[in-house]
Amino acid sequence: MHKLTSLETDSAAKSRHSEYENRARDQVQGRVEIEADLCKGCLLCIEACPPGVLVVSKSLNKMGYHPAEYVGKRCTACGVCFYICPEPGSVRVYKRKSRR
Ligand code: SF4
Ligand code: SF4
Repeated sequence: MHKLTSLETDSAAKSRHSEYENRARDQVQGRVEIEADLCKGCLLCIEACPPGVLVVSKSLNKMGYHPAEYVGKRCTACGVCFYICPEPGSVRVYKRKSRR
């Protein structure tokens, strides 16, 4: 009896977790593109990005800088990296259309 209750609880928890994941996926509404060859590697966007989804690339760009790079997920399209970047054209932020 106790085990059944435990299974039901697990199932309810999984359902809630799945609902949470769907909601989180809906909130992952952004995508950012860094134009590597225009980036001066100042790191401002990396330090300013609230969810910390920008990193320093291991590669060098054609000017010899390590450009910023998007890790590929969890961008919220807040635009902070776009506004803080001193290099015009280096950052493009895309906002996904809402599912609703
Ligand atoms: S738009 Fe916001 S969340 Fe996305 S990479 Fe730029 S600073 Fe980070
Ligand atoms: S703020 Fe602009 S120039 Fe600086 S690292 Fe980010 S993309 Fe490159």
